[in-house]
Amino acid sequence: MLRIDDLSVRYGRSVKALRGVSFEVPDGSVTAVLGSNGAGKSTLLRAISGTLGLHGGAVIGGRVELDGTRIDTMNPAAIVRLRLVQVPEGRQVFARMSVEENLRAGALSVAPKDRDAARERVLSLFPILGERSGQAAGLLSGGEQQMLAIGRAMMTSPTMLLLDEPSLGLAPQLVTRIGSIVREIHAQGTAVVLVEQNATMALAVADRAVVLEVGELALEGPADELAATEDVQRLYLGGH
Ligand code: ATP
Repeated sequence: MLRIDDLSVRYGRSVKALRGVSFEVPDGSVTAVLGSNGAGKSTLLRAISGTLGLHGGAVIGGRVELDGTRIDTMNPAAIVRLRLVQVPEGRQVFARMSVEENLRAGALSVAPKDRDAARERVLSLFPILGERSGQAAGLLSGGEQQMLAIGRAMMTSPTMLLLDEPSLGLAPQLVTRIGSIVREIHAQGTAVVLVEQNATMALAVADRAVVLEVGELALEGPADELAATEDVQRLYLGGH
């Protein structure tokens, strides 16, 4: 279980991006993180994956624990070894490398004897990556690049996957596909923390949800209960 406890984060000297955020992500759950632009969603994922420092940010209060181990003081590689992996926003695939090379790059922390099995699992989740294995990743469509970014993270067989806006910029049909991929990943036993602007998709696949508003936790609860609240309907689901 992932526990976020009274977490505060700052960038540089002035920007306080998270203030006293607390919630838990149970093993094997899908938790949606909703909030408007600048609410602190990406910051939250960076604080969990240990990558805040790469963006000039720092945890200034509280803690993050995975199965009782404090991880906000660990470096990103150590956190990946605990099988907690983030897919950053913007499909950051290695554009000049082939699909196959991108997948292999995702498996560098995996014991060599386990790499083939991991690759088979990823290709059964994303058959398109097998069909495109020799192609330069930069030549894939937006949706395929997103699948490659998720597939590369799945090479580590994570117990927890952090997804930052996987549906951003994708056509509706592909948003639906991303939603079913999240369901499949969840069904294979991986917990998912899903940051999404597309609240309709996120709340449909999640069992729990949290809403951030200007760096603070505004709402938290079962996804279906949150989806039924007036605030979430009005602010995130386009209701009135
Ligand atoms: P979006 O949906 O636009 O990605 P978000 O909810 O993910 O928004 P964050 O990107 O976490 O929000 O940003 C939270 C706050 O921190 C914002 O005020 C943002 O301007 C600021 N911020 C984010 N990254 C940095 C950074 N690298 N340096 C300084 N400030 C930052």
